[in-house]
Order: sequence, then structure tokens, then C-alpha cells
Amino acid sequence: MTSPFYKFYKKSREERLAILLKEHYLTPNDYDLFLNNKLLDDDVANALIENQLTQFPLPMGVAMNFIIDGEKKVIPMVVEEPSVIAACSHAAKMTLPDGITTKVHSRQIIGQIILKDVVDHKEASQMIDSHFREIKEIADNTHPSIVARGGGLKKIKTRSISDTSEQNFFTIHLFVDVQNAMGANIINTILEGVTPFVLELIQGASLMSILSNYNTDCLVSASCKVPFLQLAPSVEQGKLIAEKIAEASLYAKLDPYRAVTHNKGIMNGIDSVVIATGNDPRAVSAASHAYASRHGQYEGMTNWYVVEDHLIGELTLPMAVGSVGGAISVLPMAKANLDLLEVRDATDLARIILSVGLAQNLAALKALVSVGIQKGHMSLHASSLAIQVGAKGEEIEEVTKALRRAPKMNTQIAKHILNKLREK
Ligand code: NDP
Repeated sequence: MTSPFYKFYKKSREERLAILLKEHYLTPNDYDLFLNNKLLDDDVANALIENQLTQFPLPMGVAMNFIIDGEKKVIPMVVEEPSVIAACSHAAKMTLPDGITTKVHSRQIIGQIILKDVVDHKEASQMIDSHFREIKEIADNTHPSIVARGGGLKKIKTRSISDTSEQNFFTIHLFVDVQNAMGANIINTILEGVTPFVLELIQGASLMSILSNYNTDCLVSASCKVPFLQLAPSVEQGKLIAEKIAEASLYAKLDPYRAVTHNKGIMNGIDSVVIATGNDPRAVSAASHAYASRHGQYEGMTNWYVVEDHLIGELTLPMAVGSVGGAISVLPMAKANLDLLEVRDATDLARIILSVGLAQNLAALKALVSVGIQKGHMSLHASSLAIQVGAKGEEIEEVTKALRRAPKMNTQIAKHILNKLREK
């Protein structure tokens, strides 16, 4: 008997949903939800992913109070976790009056040609260096449109990679200026064009050619200067908090157990903007965490220290995001969010993302070293709890308020409050 899922990928969205309903994978309610929940045209959604069934909405909000490189910004963030946006807006306010300053160190993306069975690595390296002009010509001819836009292959480096066994690899890094794209497809196209020529130059076998998401030549920094008085009502209290934030950042450098949580908080902000702008959060996360391990141990991503009557914060990460290409140019919401951010090019977006990461970290550290994180978090979590226990319409606000007043907050208490409200 043919499986009901036979050639599932060839069916229309409606047919796929009907099959899942018929086979009892979906309840009628969920079927209706999946069927009718549509923000994207089917053509767009089908072009983006395979076996498209429906769309998965997440709330989008905006973080306020940001001044980045002297410009006021309203930041769209797509996130399901309460308190992230509130904390981010609160921290952005603490960076005033100056706001956050950013710097783009460089913007080149790396493609790797990985070869094995190369006998003489030194000779291979010399061959690559002495044929740079030819390699560049091939790269440029493979992707002429990026050259016309001012980008293309800029430099090459070679590396010897080996483990303790006999096995060793010879790797060639192509550094490409991809202009305003994230660049994965551009790089992969260039690698496809260049690899056969490299194999003519060097005796060896190809293992693979692929972009590296570890974008160490695409580093962006954000920094801020927080006056003590932005941290507390008095300079003395503010100084105390600033010193504790500096110690907390030092601690996150020393202990990976803390560093992971420290960095998770930073990624709360970064991922939310990356998603809101149609960029690839997996690529950004992989690069960020690898960069946090560059000294051999996983470390906190930020540096905070005290100078005179200010707390200074810094965050540097690889940020290979695009303002065109991939899903960015396809998702209407991503395009609208880039407009909202008044992003002129990919570096603008990278600067904003780093600024949000830095602010998010400031908010978390300040809460942790002063009132604790749970107070603010749970207060915002109250409305989620209210919805979880079935509050509807105006009940949500009423249950939320009562939960915030309650000595403890959990689903049982939320249920109790809702029941009492309904008895009235
Ligand atoms: P695209 O190929 O979609 O976009 C790049 C293209 O956009 C360029 O080739 C160019 O084409 C056009 N373009 C228009 N204006 C500009 C401009 N100002 N600057 C640069 N390009 C411009 O995407 P990317 O190469 O950026 O690849 C990103 C996608 O690849 C993402 O969806 C990502 O998820 C995916 N991906 C990621 C991988 C990874 O991270 N490991 C692996 C594989 C794919 P033209 O000149 O012809 O107009």
C-alpha cells in the first residue's frame, strides 16, 4: 500500500495539511490554525523551505532609547521570551546621553578550499601565493556581478591542518568582499570556480570547498560609556554597581559555566534582531560562540570596566549579516524591519546588532548584581502565566496584576486567581 506521505513534497500546502489531518497527526483545531495562519504568500513560503505546511508566528516588538553612532534607532526584535525587549530598552537608556559607538574592523567573508594528500605544504603555499593574479581572475569571472558592485576576491591565505595521526590537510582561505550580502552563495559560487584551477596547481585531492561561518575578518565592535548616575540614584551607589558589573564580566571570562549564561543573554538581543531582519541566526550564533572560544576556553563575550566616574562596556564579534540576498530580500517583514532601522547597508545592520547585544548584557548584569534578575523577569512572565492558565481578553490584565501582587508566582496560583475572578 502506498504511504499517505508518498511524494509529500510535491503536494500543495492544503493537500499536505489534509493528509496530516486524515492521518491524525493534526487535530481539527490545529488543522484550522495551520491552514488559516498566513502572513506570507504560499509562493514565497514554498520557495524558502521544503514541505511547507504553515507559518509559525512569533511576537515582534521594538526596543527603544537607542542612540547608535549619534543616530536614534527603534529596534525591531522577534523573540518569544518575556523581559528581553524591556531589559534592552532599559539598558539603552543607561547608555545615554552618548549612546553606543560602533566600529567595523573589516568585512571580508572566508571561503575554504580543503585539500588532502598534499605532500609538500610549503611548496603548495608558494604555488598559491605566486598564482594569486590568476586565481583572482578566475574568481572575478565566476562572479562578475559582485566585482561590478565593488567586491570580489581580496586576498588568499594558506594553512596546514593536522592531527596527531598521519592525516593532514592543506587549506586555502579565500577572503571575499561580498558587499551588502551575507555572502554564503557568492562565496560558494566563487569556490566552485576556483577549486579546479587550484587542483591543477597543487598535487592533492579535494576534500571540500565551502564558506566558513567563522568570520574572523568580519569583526564589529560596540562600546558604551555609562555614567554612574545612570546606574543608581547616587554616584556612590552607581559606582558600587559599576564595580560589581566589572567583576561579573571578569568572572564570565574565567568560568565557562557562567560564560554560557552571560553570552546567552547577549544572544537574546542579537538573535532577536537577526531573525527580525531575515538573517540567519544559526550562522551568527555559530560564529559568535566560536569567537568566544578563541583563547582556548569559552569566555564571556563582553568586557566591562570602570574608568573615573563611568562604566565602560565593549563587545566585539564576527557579524556577517546582509541587508540584501537570502531570505532578507524575500520576506516582506524583514524588508519592512530594515526600513524601520533605516539601514543603508550591511555594516549598518551589523553595528546595530552588536549594540543590541551590548545593551542586553548591560541590562542582565545590572539586574544580577543589584536586584537580581528574577524580579523583573517574573513580573513580565506574569502575563504569559495568565495566558497559559486560560485567561482571555481583559482577564489577562487582571490575572497579571494579581500575580504581580502575589507573594509567589506559578501556574497553580494563576489558576486560582483566574477561578476567583470568574466567580465574581
Ligand atoms: P544571495 O545569493 O541570495 O544574495 C546575494 C546576491 O544578491 C548577490 O550575488 C547579488 O546578485 C545580489 N545583490 C544585490 N545587491 C547587492 C549588494 N549591494 N551587495 C551584494 N549583493 C547584492 O545570498 P548570499 O550569497 O548572501 O547567501 C545568503 C544565503 O545563503 C542565506 O539565505 C543563508 O542562509 C544561505 N546559506 C548559508 C550557508 C551557511 O551559512 N553556511 C550555506 C549555504 C547557504 P546579483 O549581483 O546577481 O544581483
